Amino acid sequence: MPQSSLQQIQPLRFQGVDDGAPIVIAGPCGAETEQQTLDTARALSAIGVKVFRAGIWKPRTMPGGFEGVGNNGLPWMQAVKRETGMVVATEVATVEHVHAALDAGIDILWVGARTTANPFAMQDIADVLNGHDDVTVLVKNPLNPDLDLWLGALQRLCNAGLTRIGAVHRGFSLAGTHIYRNDPQWHIPFELRRHAPHMTILCDPSHIGGKRDYVEHLSQLALDMGFDGLMIECHYDPDNALSDSAQQITPDALKSILDRLVIRSSRPIEDELALLRQQIDDCDHELLAVLARRMSVSREIGRFKKARNLRVVQPARYQEVIKARLEEAAHLGLQEEFTQVVMQAIHEESVRQQLDLFKE
Ligand code: PEP
Ligand code: MN
Repeated sequence: MPQSSLQQIQPLRFQGVDDGAPIVIAGPCGAETEQQTLDTARALSAIGVKVFRAGIWKPRTMPGGFEGVGNNGLPWMQAVKRETGMVVATEVATVEHVHAALDAGIDILWVGARTTANPFAMQDIADVLNGHDDVTVLVKNPLNPDLDLWLGALQRLCNAGLTRIGAVHRGFSLAGTHIYRNDPQWHIPFELRRHAPHMTILCDPSHIGGKRDYVEHLSQLALDMGFDGLMIECHYDPDNALSDSAQQITPDALKSILDRLVIRSSRPIEDELALLRQQIDDCDHELLAVLARRMSVSREIGRFKKARNLRVVQPARYQEVIKARLEEAAHLGLQEEFTQVVMQAIHEESVRQQLDLFKE
């Protein structure tokens, strides 16, 4: 895969959004009626939101849910654009959606989680977008925590010559997710950042949380973790929304949240932070040196066991060691689960090194 094109994706800029300020995209999960779409958009515009979202074609996991108003919603989006001057965004999942949205002058197309996970659909979408480099395309993460699917979808758009590309982290739809609707697995968008260092990556706290009470906390967390902005579902009457009712908030609630969000600088306070980082570097050097010493003792033990024809793994000794280490770690304020993972990894590597000696 030619990684270079993801590396070259530049940050998105939108009219009216200051450079460096978080990009806020807000609007209903779905456009339901002309009035709901326009009233919600007017209220959002009045609080300073510059980018409006509304799903017209809604991919429902189960048939029978609200599947969107389809092409009927396009003139409503055009009216939002005309009346408020906001940039408008909708979800596309098929070639027909892309054609209809482009014909209607929709500025931002986003690819939903169910579509990102489907390389055939992604390629079809990329093919019809070829040559439309004025359009912005946002790619939500796939339903399952597979970074390559996400990267692949973005790469297909790059290969089609698009330059206005961004990503939206909406969490992963996994069974057994306890608090939130979707499991955030933050390390995956962090990894994405490594592959596309300048690309705009937004967070969708509405779909991650699944409940309106979580929107503020997740939004703050996302900004603190370096996301470039937020996509938040807003409805003028969330309780009666036809889809994702529990997670939508009113424009007023959004205003209060935006007023309270703390925007932290990405620039480190040089001296203090440099000193603290130096301490971390020192700790890491020490840790690595101790690990190397421990492995060398392990190999010594391995040679001893080999000479006396003893087994490499002695379960009783292992249990004893783990128990003692967990107790010691607890006194030091280290979390049990963490200590267990670290000690197990170290033990496994010791065993591997001793087994290597047995092969000689
Ligand atoms: C949405 O944004 O309304 C939507 C359907 O999102 P996702 O693809 O993240 O489920
Ligand atoms: Mn939704």
